[in-house]
Amino acid sequence: MLGRGPSATATETYATRLEHTLPVVRERVERAAHAAGRAVGSVRIVAVTKGHPLDAVDAALAAGLRDLGENRVEELEGKVLARGREAATWHMIGHVQGRKARQAAELAHLIHSVDSERLADRLARIGTEDATEVRVLAQVNTSAESSKGGFEREKAVESVHRLAELPGLKVEGLMTMAPLVDDEALLHAAFRRLREIHENLRRVTARVGAELSMGMTNDLEIAIQEGSTMIRIGTALFGERGGPA
Ligand SMILES: *Cc1c(COP(=O)(O)O)cnc(C)c1O
Repeated sequence: MLGRGPSATATETYATRLEHTLPVVRERVERAAHAAGRAVGSVRIVAVTKGHPLDAVDAALAAGLRDLGENRVEELEGKVLARGREAATWHMIGHVQGRKARQAAELAHLIHSVDSERLADRLARIGTEDATEVRVLAQVNTSAESSKGGFEREKAVESVHRLAELPGLKVEGLMTMAPLVDDEALLHAAFRRLREIHENLRRVTARVGAELSMGMTNDLEIAIQEGSTMIRIGTALFGERGGPA
């Protein structure tokens, strides 16, 4: 069942899979929030359907999950067009190329992965042209791994402060990806760094929102302990990606 095999098989639909996996994830969130002295409702689950078919989207919505995440604009577009933009709160969690900025802004309700001033400027221009505010999180590279995107941690306060001043953009908070390690101390350090950058930012500007998007299947407890308000969960809900479904 959970954590064992590739994607849902013909006999195990996404709906039946979620019947098993969603209570487990909710229980993990509850325990972690409780241990941290936080309200369970202060942590939102973003169900990451990337790599899974529309069945996964339908099953998630039927199970009461309203926040859905995708990491590629094409896949986001396919799912939004199939089920409607108002069917869910759509989260764009992967790198957005400049030429896809407008699409991402029109499809997603929140873009977690604004990783450069260039992209931020583009999105801000789009927001201004459309007389709206594009809602985003600024991605910070808290582990300083060169493979990870995001604003450099040393310059993050300065960079994100500038983003927050752009008309047409609403910076709802920050996002990070943890380093690919099992070392809990390193995971704590990465998430704590994001929280500290966030605190420092909010000391100098009122224009950055309260969201901290951090924590995935393998590190959600640590992220919640360090103050996460949105965890992005794929594997623990839907199984491994890429298998037959
Ligand atoms: C795929 C992905 C996730 C979900 O990862 P799981 O380990 O499957 O929970 C979260 N965040 C981002 C940015 C991703 O690309």
